[in-house]
Amino acid sequence: MLTPEDGLNQRADASVEGEAPLALPMEGALLTPIKMRLVFLGSPGVGKGTQAKRLSKQYSVPQVATGDMLRAAISKGTAEGKEAKSYVDSGRLVPDHLVIRIVQARLLEDDMRNGFILDGFPRTKEQADALFEMGVGIDKVLNFYLDEKILVSRIEGRRTCSKCNEIYHMDYHPPVVVGICDRCGIPLIHRKDDKAAVVKERLIVYQKETAPLTQYYEKQGCLFHIDANGSVEDVARRIQDACRF
Ligand code: AMP
Repeated sequence: MLTPEDGLNQRADASVEGEAPLALPMEGALLTPIKMRLVFLGSPGVGKGTQAKRLSKQYSVPQVATGDMLRAAISKGTAEGKEAKSYVDSGRLVPDHLVIRIVQARLLEDDMRNGFILDGFPRTKEQADALFEMGVGIDKVLNFYLDEKILVSRIEGRRTCSKCNEIYHMDYHPPVVVGICDRCGIPLIHRKDDKAAVVKERLIVYQKETAPLTQYYEKQGCLFHIDANGSVEDVARRIQDACRF
């Protein structure tokens, strides 16, 4: 039996039957198919959501952001949202079984055939193992890193649109009209879990539960480290340089 240590691509090959070919890059297509089944790892506030959105638009592959999915479930008041709410509000991780179920259902949808960007999943070893067991195959895992002081200032200054999930920062990426989403025209929110007390808890949880996943993926030879300091464009360039999509 294959295990994650055998390498994700081997597992992907093992499950390749019936799988659609990977998408070709859009303009000036290269002759080789792109490999766009990505996992974005990194602490809260590191900017992986911003980069995931950008890459998702650029290559027309969906961003699967578990935080956004959980917040949507909470605001709709679904059973899953009700179960997740106290965890999300307090900065703790939602139980694995719930997140795994949500991601598994999403990965079965049609628009996943040409790739995806998993943003915020997996966050525990159990989730990484479950992803492996799903047999979807992962091409690259990008680990975004940033100094903790900058992380905290990025999170605390962050404002989010609850409708389109666009992310702003009061100083570094402000909306055109203060406090209003450029796209939806509705007031931005300061997420409860982006406030100082909860941010501290989220960073502790990240170090304990999620940071060890870098070793997990390093062993599989698909891990790329991305310096997340600097502008959105700087980081986007580093992603391109590192991954050569
Ligand atoms: P995010 O928007 O990615 O920062 O996630 C916000 C919150 O949603 C986290 O602090 C967790 O409470 C929850 N969450 C998101 N993704 C996961 C996951 N993969 N596993 C467990 N909890 C998650």
